[in-house]
Amino acid sequence: MKKIVFVDRDGTIVLEPRDEQVDSLEKLEFVPGIISGLKLLVESGYTLIMVSNQDGLGSKRYPMKSFKTVQKKILELLEGEGIQFESILICPHMPNARCECRKPKLGLLMKYAKSTSFDRERSFVLGDRGTDIQFAHNLGVQSVLLSRSVSKDATYTTTSAFDACEYIGKSSRSAHVERKTGETEIVIDVLIDGSGIFKVSTGIGFFDHMLAQLAKHSGIDTTIQARGDLAVDEHHTVEDVGIALGTAIRDALGDKRGIERFAAPLDEALATVALDLSGRSYLSFKCEFNREYVGKLPTELVEDFFHAFADGLKATLHIECRGRNDHHKIEAMFKAVGRALKAAVAVDPRASRNVPSTKGLL
Ligand SMILES: [Mg+2]
Repeated sequence: MKKIVFVDRDGTIVLEPRDEQVDSLEKLEFVPGIISGLKLLVESGYTLIMVSNQDGLGSKRYPMKSFKTVQKKILELLEGEGIQFESILICPHMPNARCECRKPKLGLLMKYAKSTSFDRERSFVLGDRGTDIQFAHNLGVQSVLLSRSVSKDATYTTTSAFDACEYIGKSSRSAHVERKTGETEIVIDVLIDGSGIFKVSTGIGFFDHMLAQLAKHSGIDTTIQARGDLAVDEHHTVEDVGIALGTAIRDALGDKRGIERFAAPLDEALATVALDLSGRSYLSFKCEFNREYVGKLPTELVEDFFHAFADGLKATLHIECRGRNDHHKIEAMFKAVGRALKAAVAVDPRASRNVPSTKGLL
């Protein structure tokens, strides 16, 4: 589904002069960092739409011709950098005109306001005023505010235009999954382009430790809150976390644009893992355990977890592990899967963000 950034113009793309109107080329100056930032958004697969209030446009004080000269220059310069807007929506009225098209109202965006054809969770408004944040709220998307004063209503506030775009770019590969059955209740958030930060709570200490390894070694920020019927046994919790986590990562990867499809098998003393985000789920698991439990985690559930994880992720996963100590073996497997995942979700700069399959689809 299409992800959109609704970009404000004055104060966000170009610096806003004191009189608040960029009506001559002498007044035209780009906000530092915005061009490389917008380029990054385009590369991250975002569609850009410009939405701007131009007070009194077409009046004597602000003739259409002055606006067009400046606007043409802005678009030419951006196009030269590969940045294009799907639509450019301008409200020409004064604030007191009470029109329906002035931000934060949605008049200009009726097509999008009711549309279910774009990904609201991963779409943003990027702007420099409180009205932009209100506009995002009305549209049901996230917001990034370019400002010195932090807004608690904005998803993120920063003074750097590049940082703002980078934040949006990173968020584009994230997902939130909630899974509730009669046996378990699971909430998971993942951010693919994170730094391996984790917050995990499943009620099974050793399993938490393993999921932390997966987050840490894959570099995927992971929050897992799971409540399961542990009074019955650990099975449902372990398996359902596997499904939900795999699903969250698959969802966050979207169309898998730009990923390294094949991770090199990670060969170390204890575990060897090969992973392909192929769109088909398959698990090959070769490991013998000596103990029934490690901590409160039954060792037989390790295979069940990876099976569920591969199912949710729709990935082909091969795991082989040998060793003496079951704790070490399990830990090595989670670490190795994390490392393989890290390589598999990394963006290959040489792939021009193509889907890594001759089919063109994964
Ligand atoms: Mg503005």
